[in-house]
Amino acid sequence: MQPVENFAPRVLAWFDEHGRKNLPWQESKTPYRVWISEIMLQQTQVTTVIPYYQKFMTSFPTVEALADAEQDEVLAHWSGLGYYARARNMHKAAKMLVDEFDSEFPQTVEGVCELPGIGRSTAAAILSISRGVQAAILDGNVKRVLARFHAVPTWPGEKKTENAMWELAEHYMPSERCGDYTQAMMDLGATLCTRSKPQCLLCPLQSDCQARLSQDPTQFPIRKPKKAAKPEKSIQLLVLVNQQGQCLLEKRPSTGIWGGLWSLPELASDESVVLHIEQRFATQVSAVTPLSPFRHTFSHYHLDISPSKIEIADTKQVMEGEKYQWFNQQDAMAQGLPAPVRSILEQLN
Ligand code: SF4
Repeated sequence: MQPVENFAPRVLAWFDEHGRKNLPWQESKTPYRVWISEIMLQQTQVTTVIPYYQKFMTSFPTVEALADAEQDEVLAHWSGLGYYARARNMHKAAKMLVDEFDSEFPQTVEGVCELPGIGRSTAAAILSISRGVQAAILDGNVKRVLARFHAVPTWPGEKKTENAMWELAEHYMPSERCGDYTQAMMDLGATLCTRSKPQCLLCPLQSDCQARLSQDPTQFPIRKPKKAAKPEKSIQLLVLVNQQGQCLLEKRPSTGIWGGLWSLPELASDESVVLHIEQRFATQVSAVTPLSPFRHTFSHYHLDISPSKIEIADTKQVMEGEKYQWFNQQDAMAQGLPAPVRSILEQLN
């Protein structure tokens, strides 16, 4: 992502001709007025915000008026805008500004970020628009413009990508007309480089915009990668029960899943239980009762388990030893058992 020359001058020249300049919060750009507009504009369209903003400013024209208001009154002015945490934080921040900052906005991005509900980009917008501070923003609109202009190949939500985009945003921030540039970038994203229908032919960045040159600018910003679905495996677990009501446990190998634990004899999901028992244990099956199947999820796959209770008549052939052992229910439950095996044995009670 190499920065290009002449980025800000092009954006500013476009803004001079096409940018929005008659919005109510542009009349008198105090930090307080810009702050309220920035918070209202988060997740909300300009046209929706305008009447709310005007009414809010009539009721709470200063930070002191907002700090003095009851929270209910502030929320009533917000009613319909949604995301009410924004209003509650704003009210809290107004009290903090009055009580701790002598009603003055801090001078730095870090200082403004200490107020509730204000992040780095919003702080930069407030300071650059109201005071001309050279602080870059990276809100949703700017992210979209930069991700397209540079055809950023990774999802901007990834920390590494986001950091690289902050660097670009700071690099392009001019040292003069900082407020106009901030407003210009917001306008460019909101009116031309829109989410689904970017109007590249009207855009001042079109000549070297990598997304436009790719023919499909809407593929940027890259979407959040979907988590790969976990693979699924299925097995049968067999509860062999002898005439004394004991069940057979099998010691797992020390490596692999459930390593070293006592488990139940396992077979593939498509194998015949009866044949398997006859071959593996050289004994006859008297009855097979399917138990409730269930899914057990490991960090890297899902295991669908179909358990069955198997009654066998002759247990002499089933040799005990290091690998197999008969346990009564109580002793079995006292062993180190994998959680799914424990829950199968509990079903038998
Ligand atoms: S040329 Fe198109 S995709 Fe590129 S920044 Fe402009 S509007 Fe967005």
